[in-house]
Amino acid sequence: MNGLMDLHSHTTRCRHATGSMDAYVQRALALGLSDFGFSDHSHWMLHDSLKRYAMQADELDDYVADVQRLQAEYNSAGEQPFNIRLGMEMDFIPSRVGLAREVQRRHDWDYVIGSVHNIGFEKLQEAEMYTRWNIDDVCELYFHQVGMMVRERFCDIIGHFDLPKKMGSRPASGLLRYVEPLIPDLLASGIAVEINTSGLDNPAQEFMPGWEIIEALAAAGVPLTLGSDAHTPQQVGRHFAEALAGLRRLGVRQLVRFERRQPVAVPLDSIAPA
Ligand SMILES: [Zn+2]
Ligand SMILES: [Zn+2]
Repeated sequence: MNGLMDLHSHTTRCRHATGSMDAYVQRALALGLSDFGFSDHSHWMLHDSLKRYAMQADELDDYVADVQRLQAEYNSAGEQPFNIRLGMEMDFIPSRVGLAREVQRRHDWDYVIGSVHNIGFEKLQEAEMYTRWNIDDVCELYFHQVGMMVRERFCDIIGHFDLPKKMGSRPASGLLRYVEPLIPDLLASGIAVEINTSGLDNPAQEFMPGWEIIEALAAAGVPLTLGSDAHTPQQVGRHFAEALAGLRRLGVRQLVRFERRQPVAVPLDSIAPA
């Protein structure tokens, strides 16, 4: 096991991922990951009216039981530990925070990824939206909502922090200026930011967030972690060698993983060179 963690992955319960949960775990083992976390989409996704994007409310307990079954089967201690973590990618929707908090209390999560996928009913991951909206207006509203999520201490990890760029649109003055004002609240909250490596396979063609933002977060001391946002088993750990090389170039010394909602530091020099 190489010390690395992949904390962002989905299951067929969200209806837009493929492969058995066992297959995701097998891929994590084949890559030598030390920590592999499931983080399927929460059932209160705002744009899930067609039931295409998220698990349904009555599937939640089965999802948790499936992860626990895999933990019993695969987790191993000793010199080369391997652990499956119980997570969920929970949509931060201001009117549904009460519902989210109830789910956060109901199970013994290792971590919660907080994500903003919508502004109002607009889906940030649909290219068509950006033909109707000015990208700066999108960023203003999106990062405002992310700031609310941070101050609410909604989650342990922020998912795909600069998501508005995913479909290829970028504000002329860059994304860093939207992120910098959030750093003091981020530090106060203790929330980590994932380096979401899926961005490289999307029109954005770079990690989410990008290196300029990663550098600013690292310099400020914001904890960082890794997630592939895998929607197929083959996507587990995607582009991690590139992520690791970039982090080493920036002089980042550690990542974090999570156990029962507590961050655990993972020194980069304890991670085998990828
Ligand atoms: Zn998804
Ligand atoms: Zn997401």
